[in-house]
Amino acid sequence: MKTIIVGGGIMGLSTAWGLAREGHEVELFEQGPLPNPLASSVDQHRLIRHPYGDHAGYARMIDEAFIAWDLLWGDLGQRYYASTGTLALTGNGADWAERSAAVLSRIGKPMTEIPVVDLPRRFPLLDTKGVEHAYWMETGGVLFAQDIVGALVRHLRARPNVRLHEDTAVREVDLERGSVTTTSGGKHTADAIVVAAGAWLPRLLPALSGRVVPSRQVVIYFDLPAEQRAAWAKGPMVIDKTGDVGLYLVPPAEGRGMKIGDHEFSRKGDPNAAREASEDEMRPLLDRCRSLLKGFEDWRIEQLKVCFYSVTDDERFVVEKHGARGWVMSPCSGHGFKFGAVMGLELARTITGGRDAAAHAKWAAGLVGDAPT
Ligand SMILES: Cc1cc2nc3c(=O)[nH]c(=O)nc-3n(C[C@H](O)[C@H](O)[C@H](O)COP(=O)(O)OP(=O)(O)OC[C@H]3O[C@@H](n4cnc5c(N)ncnc54)[C@H](O)[C@@H]3O)c2cc1C
Repeated sequence: MKTIIVGGGIMGLSTAWGLAREGHEVELFEQGPLPNPLASSVDQHRLIRHPYGDHAGYARMIDEAFIAWDLLWGDLGQRYYASTGTLALTGNGADWAERSAAVLSRIGKPMTEIPVVDLPRRFPLLDTKGVEHAYWMETGGVLFAQDIVGALVRHLRARPNVRLHEDTAVREVDLERGSVTTTSGGKHTADAIVVAAGAWLPRLLPALSGRVVPSRQVVIYFDLPAEQRAAWAKGPMVIDKTGDVGLYLVPPAEGRGMKIGDHEFSRKGDPNAAREASEDEMRPLLDRCRSLLKGFEDWRIEQLKVCFYSVTDDERFVVEKHGARGWVMSPCSGHGFKFGAVMGLELARTITGGRDAAAHAKWAAGLVGDAPT
């Protein structure tokens, strides 16, 4: 069976991996280089964690995600992951951590509540003023995203049943007949087409615009004094919903950068526009860093990086059959990377195994606990 994939981010590449490892033929088209630095998947790191607010389906899916990553590490011959544990903090009327803990306890994966008085001793890198509840979980950590994408590209290039076309944009897809037309006019056909075009999806499939919305996001990389960096390199990922702005902190594990971002959707921006950001627009996040992180006055901004989410209203993933031969694959809303390997493997199984498309879409939307059988 032959499948054409549009898009060489984690979703397209993982689907190619899932198909190719079962002996199927794959042709993948990427509009830029492979990896493409403009893709959402191409950044130093992405977090994986069990706490998921009210989304029990995605909280359950984390175990499947880890199993799929382990399978990928086996195929790549290297593990691109550092375990850090997950620290979730709330206060100021927010209750994301409490809701996450309640869901996780219901599904048999309890978080540990840490008494606020113990926080300064347990986490001396943080100033925990204003924190009302703190929860800890041993699981969770940092996926080395751009290294994973790069290793997947090399792995797929070496496979005889995979053809990767870089710098080859697809202009048109026919999901009914199973064909794509590139901007240079080349027409290619297959038994199935997967459109995994990230924030560019609505350009290729305008019917999806409004439902999947590109959202410009800015993250900050920091340069910090060596002793603080060394301490944070062994520190936890932090999800903080205590200040006026929600914050996530990615520790500089295994020599990677120290990164902080927020999860407020801008719901605007053009992924093809110049990717510029100013310190001013990050003021609320910087203010929160100042009150949460001890020694923050010695940190310097190293890079403001613009990246794109593809957002849905309910933050659920869109992985759906469209037309007789087409699949739209858009698991993002700012939380898709952690599921990249499992999304790819499972879509490959559904495409080639004839599994029920509606059940697959429901699973990917986090509406059930297990993959479709
Ligand atoms: C700042 C930021 C922080 C994030 N943090 C996390 C996190 O901590 N944990 C987590 O799980 N997720 C996180 N995410 C989300 C995650 O990165 C994305 O969900 C995931 O990378 C999406 O992968 P993708 O393959 O769908 O899209 P992309 O990686 O964008 O890949 C799509 C590819 O399709 C190509 N393409 C588009 N149109 C065409 C065309 N017409 N022809 C050919 N090629 C085309 C593009 O060039 C691109 O390379 C974050 C995202 C951002 C932006």
